[in-house]
Amino acid sequence: MKKRLGIFGSTGYIGEQTLSVIDKYRDIFEVEVLTGFENFEKLISQAKKFLPNVVVIGNSDYYEIVSDALQPLDIKVYAGAEAIEQVAGMDTLDMVVMAISGFSAFKPLKTALENKTAIALANKECMVSAGEWIRKKALSTGTIVIPVDSEPSAIFQCLVGESTKDIDKIILTASGGPFLRLSESQFKNITPEMALRHPKWKMGKKISVDSASMMNKGLEAIEARWFFGLKPDQIEVLIHEEAIVHSLVQFSDGSMKAQLSITDMRIPIQYALGYPERLAGKTSGLDLAKMGSLHFEAPDIKKFRNLALAFEALKKGGNMPCILNAANEIAVQEFLQKNIEFIQIPLVVENCMKTISFISNPSLDELLECDRKGRKKAAEFIKTLI
Ligand code: MG
Repeated sequence: MKKRLGIFGSTGYIGEQTLSVIDKYRDIFEVEVLTGFENFEKLISQAKKFLPNVVVIGNSDYYEIVSDALQPLDIKVYAGAEAIEQVAGMDTLDMVVMAISGFSAFKPLKTALENKTAIALANKECMVSAGEWIRKKALSTGTIVIPVDSEPSAIFQCLVGESTKDIDKIILTASGGPFLRLSESQFKNITPEMALRHPKWKMGKKISVDSASMMNKGLEAIEARWFFGLKPDQIEVLIHEEAIVHSLVQFSDGSMKAQLSITDMRIPIQYALGYPERLAGKTSGLDLAKMGSLHFEAPDIKKFRNLALAFEALKKGGNMPCILNAANEIAVQEFLQKNIEFIQIPLVVENCMKTISFISNPSLDELLECDRKGRKKAAEFIKTLI
């Protein structure tokens, strides 16, 4: 029997890459569900090609267009955020690929977890804001959550056959983004166009800005804590401009393991979809002799203030990562709309971390409330900056 997949956020970059992997292994996978937010044209063309049973368009304004286009193919079409949440609980799904960006992916993710459906997780905001809850739920229901992002996938792969108790630390590598060599004084001239031009990876807008500010690596550090059940002081970041070593694990005997490959998202996606099998058929190998050398350096947390803030939130725990994430989501949105400067993103995050009350052991409801509060507070603070 083929593995039936639901691609949540299929019209985004990860969603498209996931479909290109599925296309290569039509004998192993079939698409059961596709969801997109508002790119109805792409969603329609994906549905025509992969013939899922169900398609959901997040923005209800496009329901009729999508429905009319797919009716002749006998594809059920729904619209709205609630429909996305509901289809995540469909019993016909063997795996949910969660490629929706932002904490808005939490509700469908929760539904899939409660239904014990395996999850390939590309979204990191949910793990950052509610990682402890997700980890506990996954463990108590026996649901597998496999990372799709290159760094946690690298660590996941290094840990196959290993025991968590033998981990000394993990080292997340960071290419450093487009501003690695820019001086701090040049940071004030950064435009959204500059931030969206990542030297190594092609990605969606939110994650591209996060990579440029290095918040992305901070989010990955928090996410790694819950993915792998680590203590905050077991997580480190290392700059590795070539982006060939995707992360490393150091074990208690001093031995290290790393996962290496070219920068192609289809590699970690293919691993997650195929797990526990490693599917044959490589995109392109790595020619180390041609590369010659690989470089590593410590990150500059003074220049990349967001990275320092994320580590502060990681160490503090409780609702602090949720506050950090909510504030950052709003700040990035406002930066992309040119309402605030790049250097003001950490100011927004820091302001929210300082002013929203700390809860050391938040319930899920408290986290959801904290996410709302963080967004509201960030928006209010941004008004004082404009
Ligand atoms: Mg990453």
